[in-house]
Amino acid sequence: MPTFDFDLFVIGGGSGGVRAARMAAQTGARVGLAEAAELGGTCVNVGCIPKKLYSYAAGYAESFEEAAGYGWKLPQAPQFDWAHLKSQRAREITRLNGIYASLLKNSGVTLIAGWAQLADAHTVEVDGKRHTARHLLVATGGTPYVPDIPGREHVVSSDAMFDLDPFPKRLLVVGGGYIACEFASIFNGLGAQVTQLHRRAHLLTGFDDDVRQFLANEMGKAGVDVRLNCEAASVTRGPHGLAVTLARGQQIEADTVLFATGRVPNTQGLGLEAAGVKLDERGAIAVDAHYRSSVPSIHAVGDVSTRVQLTPVALAEAMVVVDELFGKGKRRLDYEFIPTAVFTHPNIGTCGYTELEARAKFGEVAVFSSEFKSLRHTLSGRSERTFMKLVVEKATDRVVGLHMVGADAGEVVQGFAVAMRAGATKALFDSTIGIHPTAAEEFVTMREPMPG
Ligand code: NDP
Repeated sequence: MPTFDFDLFVIGGGSGGVRAARMAAQTGARVGLAEAAELGGTCVNVGCIPKKLYSYAAGYAESFEEAAGYGWKLPQAPQFDWAHLKSQRAREITRLNGIYASLLKNSGVTLIAGWAQLADAHTVEVDGKRHTARHLLVATGGTPYVPDIPGREHVVSSDAMFDLDPFPKRLLVVGGGYIACEFASIFNGLGAQVTQLHRRAHLLTGFDDDVRQFLANEMGKAGVDVRLNCEAASVTRGPHGLAVTLARGQQIEADTVLFATGRVPNTQGLGLEAAGVKLDERGAIAVDAHYRSSVPSIHAVGDVSTRVQLTPVALAEAMVVVDELFGKGKRRLDYEFIPTAVFTHPNIGTCGYTELEARAKFGEVAVFSSEFKSLRHTLSGRSERTFMKLVVEKATDRVVGLHMVGADAGEVVQGFAVAMRAGATKALFDSTIGIHPTAAEEFVTMREPMPG
């Protein structure tokens, strides 16, 4: 039996890597983890967490606006201090980086700061020092993709949005996915004049069509200038800031141009080729259902390998690998009914299939939907509306799609996702007593299917 320095060596200290390292170490395995930057990866440093903090910050603008309708008089117009928000965020992220470090340390993981490269199927090199391991796990995440257009050097990716200096009075966002919609909403709320360009006829490809249209309308009402079927052809710097020329010729000026045009797996400079690790057609590490790469001793989880780029999915994949290598044995992750939220204003929460997907997969479906002004906005003076939709497989009465656009949609949908994974039928939804008065009760009180 060959001897190794470690039982498991993890490359990448983001969500998936830290979870795997920690949990493996808790089984008694000898675990090493290399990370070249701050611990926590995209989610903690330039993703979910700071984004949600900024989303809360943007939400206060709405609350101040609404407060007057409820009798609150502000002595003067509220002032937003961008520098203060940035420093508060930085403080919190540093605290989280520290928590990640102590979680690893307390679990007995050997933390190595530096860039790791695979040398062979069992060897990693970090800053000239070689470490051997029985199993290697690549969890290096992804990075923003910016298309190669003239003037690309003038634009920023989502990584830079948290520390912009100065605050952009005019922000132009290119893209129609999660990140583009979230930043457009957030910076609109924080006071920027936001234009969002998307190349398709609707935002958020892959979401339910009704949700896509409803959200674009609500974002427009909130002040985002959403321009569909629009492509940015080039960017130049001029006397009045940046000028973005559209494919159709028109120009838009902005202080900051964000390209939120997707993310690509971090596979460069890792020695994957040297170790014989194969990539798939998207440039991600090709893995089987057990996250094993083309080299049996090398696994990969999270954004560097999978189709679903979500932190909780990376965590779940990491647990499958740890269970298989060090614990409970082989099992497969079920990717059906993964709930997700888009932290736009208002939020989207969704679980399961879109109406179109459900029709293609299940044949006949019944669709229930509801659109209303929430109780909060009867006095707030805002015209924001809420949208909810259920898609039900007719043959089994099972709820296979649940979609919401409205306040706290992510919080609402998480609980319904449990019911959907348990196979809840529409009859079960109908027999559930609502909580009154909430928006969420609408999900258990929709009785009349849409015609057709
Ligand atoms: P997405 O894939 O969601 O969106 C990319 C967007 O960019 C799409 O609208 C796409 O258009 C557009 N696009 C791609 N290439 C070009 C191009 N060359 N020119 C113009 N537009 C282009 O990626 P994101 O970067 O927004 O997010 C990555 C992933 O991260 C998400 O899919 C999600 O899984 C995860 N994420 C999750 C969040 C959450 O849970 N709240 C928040 C943020 C990210 P088209 O539709 O035509 O393809």
